[in-house]
Amino acid sequence: MIPYGKQSISDNDIEAVVQVLRSDYLTQGPVVPQFETEIAAKVGAKHAIAANSATSSLHVACLALGVGPGDVVWTSPNSFVASANCARYCGAEVEFVDIDPDTYNMSVAQLEIKLQTAATAGKLPKVVIPVHFSGQSCDMAAIGKLAERYGFKVIEDASHAIGSTHNDHPVGACKHSDITVFSFHPVKIITTGEGGLATTNDAELAYRMSILRTHGITRDPQRLKEQSPAPWYYEQQALGFNYRMIELEAALGLSQLKQLDHFVHRRNELASRYDLLLQDFRVKRPILPATGLSAFHLYVIRLPVADPVYHRTVFDKMRTSGIGVNLHYMPIHLQPDFRKLGFDAGMYPEAEAYGNSAITLPLFPAMTQDDQDVVVAALAAALEP
Ligand SMILES: *Cc1c(COP(=O)(O)O)cnc(C)c1O
Repeated sequence: MIPYGKQSISDNDIEAVVQVLRSDYLTQGPVVPQFETEIAAKVGAKHAIAANSATSSLHVACLALGVGPGDVVWTSPNSFVASANCARYCGAEVEFVDIDPDTYNMSVAQLEIKLQTAATAGKLPKVVIPVHFSGQSCDMAAIGKLAERYGFKVIEDASHAIGSTHNDHPVGACKHSDITVFSFHPVKIITTGEGGLATTNDAELAYRMSILRTHGITRDPQRLKEQSPAPWYYEQQALGFNYRMIELEAALGLSQLKQLDHFVHRRNELASRYDLLLQDFRVKRPILPATGLSAFHLYVIRLPVADPVYHRTVFDKMRTSGIGVNLHYMPIHLQPDFRKLGFDAGMYPEAEAYGNSAITLPLFPAMTQDDQDVVVAALAAALEP
């Protein structure tokens, strides 16, 4: 089976992890802060806070922004469930903004309409979480303007988008947002096994996220309420969690970071080649951003009709031919645990049509042209009536 995504692990990566295994610290040592410093520098943000997953980072990001019971958080229905669950962990309500039919990102036009309605009803969101689907940045300048006008905070879910740019700045620089979150799950652009990281330019948000990921505890003398503390003294200042990244993960991340530009370049090369090979196919190819570089986490095609039976047929034929196609994503609001909250089919029609016609083709740095030719031949056969 040719998988839809796969990590690339080099001998240097392995050596970096082994070095940490032989060192004094497996957790809470010097490597996690080094990883944070290097990511912050790479994406042009002032602060970076690593965690054991992007899901954890999204949770502490919401908490740091004060999300709690009575609040509403909006995100995209075309995402992994974690983009929405982070708000629910805080006791807040979730709503979705339907997607743009070309980029599959949260539609800025829909966002604006929904904000007008919510303002009238007095139910504006506290936080909006745009998701940079497949690596292509949302229109953050436009979303940032709406945030100012309507007074909400913004967390970019950039789980797909480390290495992407938007209007000539790296995703993660938080030019139009409060916080950006990256994932280092093995299918993502670079990996730490499991892992996530939040960037921000706000020192107070950085501090809050940094203590929330470790029980809400600080030992920083400047931050302690106690004036002349004993040497063993530490303070729990908020109810936090054990969401720490470990040293082995950070070592892998640091080593992978050296390959980031190469991975993104290779993904773009393969994506362009798919574009070429699929030119005459009756499928919609990804529409490329005019305003930046996509890290191309995913290469998604759309079938010409959104027909669940046809979608399933093409999908099954691909899987039978050994192609690990996938669907990113089943709309979040149609998950049973979200239907329980009152969500139902018909509420976000673009995301639903997308869910009945999208197919993720394999794309990962180690993929060869031969692999790609096999995928394209299988697709040609699968699309035949
Ligand atoms: C992978 C992913 C997450 C969760 O990342 P983890 O590191 O696995 O917790 C969140 N949002 C999106 C869009 C993702 O793709």
